Formats: sequence, C-alpha cells, structure tokens
Amino acid sequence: MWRVTALTLFPEMFPGPLGESLAGKALKEGVWALEAVDIRRFAKDRHGTVDDAPFGGGAGMVMKPDILSDAIAAVALPEVPKLLMSPRGKPFSQAYARELARGPGVILVCGRFEGIDERVIEAQALEEVSVGDFVLSGGEIAAMAVMDSCVRLLPGVMGAARSGDEESFEDGLLEYPHYTRPASWTGPDGIERRVPEILVSGHHGKVAEWRTKQRQEITRARRPDLWARRTAKRDEEK
Ligand code: SAH
Repeated sequence: MWRVTALTLFPEMFPGPLGESLAGKALKEGVWALEAVDIRRFAKDRHGTVDDAPFGGGAGMVMKPDILSDAIAAVALPEVPKLLMSPRGKPFSQAYARELARGPGVILVCGRFEGIDERVIEAQALEEVSVGDFVLSGGEIAAMAVMDSCVRLLPGVMGAARSGDEESFEDGLLEYPHYTRPASWTGPDGIERRVPEILVSGHHGKVAEWRTKQRQEITRARRPDLWARRTAKRDEEK
C-alpha cells in the first residue's frame, strides 16, 4: 500500500477532494492510505504555540523548528522521501510523480504563515518542492496536488483508461484535442463546428498521425520551453 503522511496545521482539510472519484475509490479500497498529522500535537506549551516572530524582523510568523522537527521525526521512515511544499522548491513534474509513485509513499510537510525555520529543512533533509510559480497561503493544496498526481499512477487506479505514455508531459509533448458527440455542434456564437473529419474516418493510422501532429503544434505554440527541451534531447540521442 502506498502511504502518504501529511504534516499540517489543518488535518481536517484531508482527504478533501482526494476522498472523491478515482483517488477516493482507491483510498477506500486500500490501494493507498492517507494520514494527516496535526503539527500542533507536538507543541510544548498549553497554548499549542507552533510559530514565532522572525529573527531580523519583518512581516508574518515562522513555524518553529523544534516543534516541526519533532512532528517529522514522529512519522519519518528510512525509505520514505520527505518533501517540503515550498514556492522556492524544485518544480514538481510528471517525472517526479512517477518516481514517487514507484516508491513506498511520501511524507509531505505543509508550511503556513511566512514559512518554516530554515534549520529544519537542513536537519531533517527535506526536499523542497514547488507546484508552480505562484504563492499559496499554505502547503495543503500543493500537497494534495502532489498526492493526486501520484495516486492516479498507482497500479489499478486508472484501470484501462490510459496507457499513460500518451498523456501530457509523458514524452515531452502536451495532449492532442479531444472531441465527442455530437459530430456537429452549434455554440452560443451561432457558429457550427464539426469535429475534424479525420477522427470519423475510421482510419486509425491517420488518426494517430493527426494526433501526433496536433501535439507537436500545440506544444511548440504554447510551451516553447518544453519544445526546446525535447528538441535538444532528440539531438543528443542522434
Ligand atoms: N513567504 C513565502 C510564502 C509562504 S506561503 C515566500 O515568499 O516564498 C505559505 C506556505 O504555503 C509555504 O510554506 C508552502 O508550504 C506553501 N506554498 C505556497 N506556495 C507554494 C507553491 N507554489 N508550491 C508549494 N507550496 C507552496
């Protein structure tokens, strides 16, 4: 069973959206397990203090190193990676999700306030991971994003829905456009839109070719960074 431990000041936020749909079903079936541990449980005073003012001054509060470290120590296992949700971390990616999903599970530390005392990151060897170049008010939603992307990769969770390797990012390309019935649809702008003819042709080879071409065009137009990386990799392989 793939095990996630979330260290948080808001354990009641979990499983939240992960209790629904594919991830929720897999959770109920025991494909994965989720434990949300309340960091405040490790506070040392009767007020349950977990944060304090920053040395050097400035706005906001900082999560105290002693308490957070005790919380991490209480759940840590030698083989399980410890990630700190952090906007200055390594960008999370599909490849990273695959790597985590292959392992025994993950410990996710959710920051709050201005962040956590720098010394815990070092002392507990936390890997800082970011879910994007924007600032959330806490690590919980970031942790859920990480969990969700891993859980759907676990054996049996997605069923036969997808081989996986055709999806966005798996081979450095974004996804092709999808269409379903009706084949002709008139939108609120009064314009009739038909699905691309090739998709109803029944010609599987041509469909595959069209989709690959779409993926390439969309990636080149929307994500020149991904496109450049892919081209560089291909040149290397030659
Ligand atoms: N002062 C920090 C922001 C703190 S936000 C800064 O300027 O960088 C509070 C917490 O939210 C962080 O400790 C982190 O756990 C979480 N968080 C915010 N944005 C995030 C992101 N993009 N990825 C992952 N975690 C994030």
